Amino acid sequence: SERTLVLVKPDGVARSLVGEVISRIERKGLKLVALELRNVPRELAEQHYAEHAERPFFGDLLEFITSGPVVAAVVEGPRAIAAFRQLAGGTDPVEKATPGTLRGDFGLETQYNLVHGSDSPESAKREIDLWFSGL
Ligand code: ATP
Repeated sequence: SERTLVLVKPDGVARSLVGEVISRIERKGLKLVALELRNVPRELAEQHYAEHAERPFFGDLLEFITSGPVVAAVVEGPRAIAAFRQLAGGTDPVEKATPGTLRGDFGLETQYNLVHGSDSPESAKREIDLWFSGL
């Protein structure tokens, strides 16, 4: 069994899609280990997205992710990292995510793509430590 960090980003919270995201996680068979509505200080956002610091969209990404509360969750299950990324769909909600995924069903723009899920065991550990120190 494996753990992954999931975020419902500010667009997902603002659009009242938290229940939809949680519902799909639960119906997939994954378990919630932690779940919290959180404001995102700029420093936390910078650390979370540190790998994108040199990308042209970094400033917009920080502004977006700190623009309103997010729901942060630790999700557990067999192959939880890949399983949640399957539920999320590809980064671009139109060109990459297919219908039936969260982004494919509810997203239009790459920046406003509703959810985040860790992309490897190393990032999952780093991100869970960052968002839920002590878990
Ligand atoms: P996440 O890390 O949030 O799960 P991801 O792994 O699918 O997303 P990354 O390539 O890691 O995608 O990009 C991180 C986030 O940065 C994306 O989810 C999106 O919100 C934003 N982003 C990525 N590419 C762009 C872009 N070209 N323009 C604007 N925002 C972008």
